[in-house]
Amino acid sequence: MLNKNSIANLIVTTNLDRSEVKILLGHLLRFTKAQLITHNDYILNNSQLQEFYELCNQRLLGIPINYITGTREFYSREFKVNSDTLIPRPETELLVDTILEYAKAGFSLLDLGAGSGCIAISVKLESPTLFVSAVDKSPKALEVAKFNAANLGANVEFKQSDWFSNVDAKYDIIVSNPPYIHPEDNHLDNLSFEPLDALTDFYDGLSCLRHIITNARNYLNNDGILMVEHGYDQGVSVRELFILNEFAKVTTLCDYSRNERITLGAAVN
Ligand code: GLN
Repeated sequence: MLNKNSIANLIVTTNLDRSEVKILLGHLLRFTKAQLITHNDYILNNSQLQEFYELCNQRLLGIPINYITGTREFYSREFKVNSDTLIPRPETELLVDTILEYAKAGFSLLDLGAGSGCIAISVKLESPTLFVSAVDKSPKALEVAKFNAANLGANVEFKQSDWFSNVDAKYDIIVSNPPYIHPEDNHLDNLSFEPLDALTDFYDGLSCLRHIITNARNYLNNDGILMVEHGYDQGVSVRELFILNEFAKVTTLCDYSRNERITLGAAVN
């Protein structure tokens, strides 16, 4: 008979997805996934049990699992996240792949709206010869990004800036994953615990992209590349904005769900 307060029993009897129960137990007991299996007869004491139920309640209230554990894996590394930062999405890993494909040794890169810092930090760690800078308008998000950079040993320069407002250099690559969800998109209802101003522009979903694409040339070296993440249905509009602003070689890439997700272009004089 399984003890009712054992890991093995809690995994099967708790009223949450089993994979989430494992994440919560691992977080609470500081057990790895492997330890949860090898020590599945471990019996939680009363205070651990209380804490476990508290975590489950938070999850049942809809708080994202990553805000409960305070971490999220991105590009195979663990990032701190909290309600001041968006939770990194798997599709944004494609932005990192694309940067790494285009960046040559010694290139300079600017990430606009860094949030948890996951893009800038991953790029720097994968390609250490790059000079990576990142800005965000939110001082609280910058604190999280700086923590992540220090924790993961990435030498990234962080600065507070509302898009380009405090940027005074030119770069070889500028990237951004700006808020692009239309304010009336139902999808936002399920994201109510994340910072709303990191998800939507409260206008037409395109205003931040428009601002970035319209101004980026002033901050790009000749032949510099602008790359942005956008919504699955914004490819046409974003390509139009790139072309309107005289970018060359405008290309859109699809994510793993085959949605148009990233558009890039070169600033050729
Ligand atoms: N891709 C995110 C989502 O759909 C949105 C990220 C963003 O607005 N930059 O949840």
